[in-house]
Amino acid sequence: MTDAGDAFAKAEEAELTRRRTADGERAAPAAGGGPQGPQGRASRDDDSVVSPLADSDERVIESALRPKRLEDFVGQARVREQLSLLLRSALRRGRPPDHVLLSGPPGLGKTTIAMIIAAELGAPLRITSGPAIERSGDLAAVLSTLQEGEVVFIDEIHRLARPAEEMLYLAMEDFRVDIVVGKGPGATAIPLDIAPFTLVGATTRAGLLPAPLRDRFGFTAHLDFYQPEELSVIVHRSAGLLGVRIEDAGIGELAQRSRGTPRIANRLLRRVRDYAEVRADGLVTREITRTALELYEVDEMGLDRLDRAVLDALIRRFGGGPVGLSTLAVAVGEEAETVEVVAEPFLVRHGLLARTPRGRVATRAGWEHLGLTPPAITEVPTLFD
Ligand code: ADP
Repeated sequence: MTDAGDAFAKAEEAELTRRRTADGERAAPAAGGGPQGPQGRASRDDDSVVSPLADSDERVIESALRPKRLEDFVGQARVREQLSLLLRSALRRGRPPDHVLLSGPPGLGKTTIAMIIAAELGAPLRITSGPAIERSGDLAAVLSTLQEGEVVFIDEIHRLARPAEEMLYLAMEDFRVDIVVGKGPGATAIPLDIAPFTLVGATTRAGLLPAPLRDRFGFTAHLDFYQPEELSVIVHRSAGLLGVRIEDAGIGELAQRSRGTPRIANRLLRRVRDYAEVRADGLVTREITRTALELYEVDEMGLDRLDRAVLDALIRRFGGGPVGLSTLAVAVGEEAETVEVVAEPFLVRHGLLARTPRGRVATRAGWEHLGLTPPAITEVPTLFD
């Protein structure tokens, strides 16, 4: 362990304790349910070792692993280059850069990029999120106290309340907010100038953003899943920071099975390290990685329990589809949004599931991944069917 200090060690310990407790609590029901059944699944936030969502203890650990500068940010080469141009030209002009919208599945580096933008600009950063801003007054409080050039990061920006969203339009375009004083017919709007700032919005669901909001971002970038080679670089770096002894073959295996997601790669690295420390001499080899990941129910492609539950329900209960998202979500006992945002992008990316206008359909590869033979004709209906 290096410079990350006490907070980091405490968070690690808290995380381990919580996981141990959670494992103990789950032992009984899990034994009764099918190995891949949705029954007995607790909330995905803390249940799954491969959930791309972070919980609160993990955020502390993550902050120690986060690259601080653009040059340390691995992968997403095009986005990195575009951002670098945006930031350099802003610095040259001495003006805040355009507002930035980042979209993509959870755990791919949106928050990290927001922090890097502030660091590269040498500007302070305010972090908030759509759900945290309940009323437009909450947003006015943030915007009206900004310093010139500050970076404001709004995570899950698609979940902003409507009045806050409208306030944001004006703020983004004219650096102005209208503060409403009074109620009913006597209410008046007092315009207030605010300091020029850069908004960085992040969303897992770009399609839900209203067009007027989307149009106000001068720069939009979509983050895609990482290639195993890129994840290898990330795991190598994280292992160095955490002081984990890991062989190259172990790194390769981990990178292959991390769902293309740095957050998952970092988390699996810590779980595999635990395994290596308790069951072996601490050195993470390919064999240790394989056995540990089996224990955590991560398969060779990186699919976790939810991914498999979705695929399993689609194929075994609905004959491979087409089936609607909400029906599928009920079948696996999850929120439709979780299935759509967390499980599906990866399944689609790997060609195991297709989204069609008539519903979700399992592909031939999807059937085969579960060791099943697809029916004679498993054609994915197209838009023109
Ligand atoms: P998001 O905001 O998209 O959910 P984060 O920015 O919080 O994702 O990233 C999750 C974790 O993954 C961070 O702790 C960070 O260390 C790591 N990470 C993400 N992207 C990269 C990257 N390109 N290079 C190195 N680490 C990364």
